[in-house]
Amino acid sequence: MMAFWTEPDFDEHELVQLVHDSASGLTAIIAIHSTHLGPGAGGTRFWHYDKPEGAMRDALRLSRGMSYKNAMAGLPMGGGKAVVLLGPGAEKTPELLAAFGDAVNALGGRYVTAEDVGATEADMVAISKRTPHVCGLPADDGSIGGDPGPFTAMGIYHGIRAAVAHKLGKDSVRGVHVAVQGCGSVGGGVARLLARDGATLTLSDIDAKRAKALATELGSQVVASDRVMGVTCDVFSPNALGAVLDEEGIARLDCQIVAGGANNQLARPEHGAQLAERGILYAPDYVINAGGIINVGLEYLCRQHGSPCDINEVRRRIAQIPERLEAIWRESEATGQSSDVVADAMARRLIGRG
Ligand code: NAD
Repeated sequence: MMAFWTEPDFDEHELVQLVHDSASGLTAIIAIHSTHLGPGAGGTRFWHYDKPEGAMRDALRLSRGMSYKNAMAGLPMGGGKAVVLLGPGAEKTPELLAAFGDAVNALGGRYVTAEDVGATEADMVAISKRTPHVCGLPADDGSIGGDPGPFTAMGIYHGIRAAVAHKLGKDSVRGVHVAVQGCGSVGGGVARLLARDGATLTLSDIDAKRAKALATELGSQVVASDRVMGVTCDVFSPNALGAVLDEEGIARLDCQIVAGGANNQLARPEHGAQLAERGILYAPDYVINAGGIINVGLEYLCRQHGSPCDINEVRRRIAQIPERLEAIWRESEATGQSSDVVADAMARRLIGRG
């Protein structure tokens, strides 16, 4: 593995730790980018990496992303992320999860974990047997936490409404045409909330049955997943993969707004400027998709410090996402910088690196 501080994604991370436990077969990297605002919070990705460099890149890049996301969400939390490197065909065993929980615990609360790709609520429960520094645990009646998807969808719904007001001058999404890429936990939730308000939807998913079932439920159109980016619409909402906004993808867009939940939507930083040049309003991904971390972040803070933790507090904070987007778009228009560049600069100021 290369020295991590020579990686292009290294950004003065406060801690990058390799964890190895031969007995359970655990190999993991825990990266803490910043604890300026509070404990470095961000999920754990369980993934098979062809090369360890890929795991290091993910840990560095995703932990910095969490610093930005948590800061812009107004949470008193820094940014961290862990990746667990699974061998080909390897399983997440109880022993491996316990060893990972011990590694998180050894950091004494500097890192707080949660679900990411490849992790489930049940994994978080297993980890919680070894450390209190975990969130995304099942929500019991009246408590907060659990599956972040519906909360992420709620934030995106608010963000789309804000974008529609800003760009199209409309105070409702009734009749606004939204093309939704990905009908999973987040995309499905966004589609249902928009449909309730009378938006016109075109849905797509590589799982065609899933898209069809949702379209039947909502009375919407379906389009093949390789065509959704070319649909003539008001809003393109990416809720599946990252890096869909590359040169070719941006050239195909026939919309005025891009606003969705997928992480790392811009394939490269310059693609934010390309969207702006085409006159497309872009909602920076880590600002609009913060609803889930707001939910599980407050769950953690509530458990640790007795902070406000009722569901209304979660909803109130998610409802502030539009204000942040507005501030970004206003500064973008005033300075001529694209919205992603403005958001990064705002986030860096908040974490004391501006
Ligand atoms: P999910 O697995 O529930 O849903 C993803 C859906 O996208 C699946 O139905 C899948 O079939 C579909 N899909 C995959 N490739 C596609 C393609 N090329 N075209 C169309 N559809 C495709 O995942 P999710 O939790 O809904 O997350 C979606 C995105 O949002 C991911 O990028 C994730 O990182 C991001 N995100 C999720 C959360 C959360 O709370 N779940 C929070 C922040 C960001």
